Amino acid sequence: MAIVSDAATTSSEEQRRAAGPQVWPPGTQLVGGSANLKGSSLRPFFIYNSLSRSVEEFIALDRDRVTYYSCGPTVYLRQHLGNMRSYIFADTLKRALEFNGYAVRHVMNITDVGHMTSDEDAGEDKVEKTARAEGRSPQEVAHFYRDLFLADLNVLNIEMPEVICAASDHIADMIALIARILERGFAYVAHSGVYFDVEKYRGANRRGRLSRQSLDEQHAGQRLEHAPDKKSPHDFALWVLNQPTHLMQWDSPWGRGYPGWHIECSAMAMKYLGATIDIHSGGIDHVPIHHENEIAQSESATGRPFVRYFVHHAFLVGMEGAKISKSAGKFPVLEDLIRARVNPLAFRLFCLSAKYRSELVFSIDAVRAAERNLYYLYGFAASAPVEEADSPWTQAYRERFQAALNDDLNTPEALAVVLEMVNKAYRDNDRRICGTLKQFDRVLGIRLAEQFEYLKRLKVPADIQALIDERAQARSKKDFGRSDELRMQLQARGWEAKDNRDGTSEYMPRWN
Ligand code: AMP
Ligand code: ZN
Repeated sequence: MAIVSDAATTSSEEQRRAAGPQVWPPGTQLVGGSANLKGSSLRPFFIYNSLSRSVEEFIALDRDRVTYYSCGPTVYLRQHLGNMRSYIFADTLKRALEFNGYAVRHVMNITDVGHMTSDEDAGEDKVEKTARAEGRSPQEVAHFYRDLFLADLNVLNIEMPEVICAASDHIADMIALIARILERGFAYVAHSGVYFDVEKYRGANRRGRLSRQSLDEQHAGQRLEHAPDKKSPHDFALWVLNQPTHLMQWDSPWGRGYPGWHIECSAMAMKYLGATIDIHSGGIDHVPIHHENEIAQSESATGRPFVRYFVHHAFLVGMEGAKISKSAGKFPVLEDLIRARVNPLAFRLFCLSAKYRSELVFSIDAVRAAERNLYYLYGFAASAPVEEADSPWTQAYRERFQAALNDDLNTPEALAVVLEMVNKAYRDNDRRICGTLKQFDRVLGIRLAEQFEYLKRLKVPADIQALIDERAQARSKKDFGRSDELRMQLQARGWEAKDNRDGTSEYMPRWN
């Protein structure tokens, strides 16, 4: 199911699609929006902008410093695989931009205070709720889940953003931003908190820039918790006051309290990236509230556009079609894959096998299917001539790979190009594609380059080598029954066999 409805596709997007593929033939004069791209190998990069609801050509303010903010975790529970889809998406977008020659400065927040159990400011602070339940301090809880999160990033080969910033380390920045919003008349101080005056900011039509819903539509069917001193139920807290039982509190010009969740992202994004940032991303759940509120706060404080391209990815859902979420109680995490002896990087390939704007249905078996592709690529890496220059025909695949990425980050198509290239290398018995594969892996992030090195150094144990030799003999005698038996014996010992069309076979250890 498409996430940002297909009906929203604009005629300008249709026109762009009708105009044909985005690969510019080498030597083509760059014109229009692409004119600021230097050099002949540069290609226009298109991405769906939730602000315009259309696929737009990405034009960086400064291609040597693309500013990118992606919403990070709230560290009160283990991040589930749905969350990991979000970080894999952000990492892939960054890598795709880098593949296109952009330098990207990526900032991600860690929310350790102020995110309430309801995104509408109601309920309990999520981190404090866990702290109370587990008899630990909020800081202990936040550090514990932050460290698990960082370890998961490493296992999934997600590059560390240039800045990872915790909300509780940026209280002074938030206070300064709230003071500016107050000065400009878009907020007011009440007994229970400093609130953003949503109706004043939105004006008569009351429509949100991203959701395009009026406030009443946006909150239809929800029972908004309305602090009696708020002017409107739609107003949201910038700073919460007079909550004596809240554990994390700081002094402010308005009294002791703590920040609202939305102001954290605005303050940290602008601190590290400036008043106007190129790209901001997150899951589609952030469209109607969190990102809408971030825009309102930031733009009312600076009077300048906050984000140029808002990019939202769809959910990872369970087999029943429901969003994988922490509130559902049981949710899959990285350990579940590891326990099932599935290579975590197969989850990365699994995420890339769907378009980011489409829901993706999770099951261990589906990730196992992606793992077959992972081992297909690793299997190739095991026997590839790393030292030799690439064959000229790889150039066409590089063009197609880039064209797929640049077409609204079409990773399933890019992956298909990679597999097709390897397939051709086997079929034509011309394996001189390693340089190109390594370049592709800068985007795929499946540690292919390490595999080339690792597999070259790998010593095959004598008992495994004996089985491999016996299987080679069986295959040369066309004794396929025995060959299959030996394949299963190797599998039982953790080695996968891959038979090539030319009669040769490759063997590699399974990850576990
Ligand atoms: P949270 O820790 O809940 O603040 O979420 C961190 C990020 O994960 C946000 O960008 C969410 O939009 C995203 N997210 C949460 N659940 C899912 C899901 N099931 N699939 C994809 N992304 C998700
Ligand atoms: Zn955020």
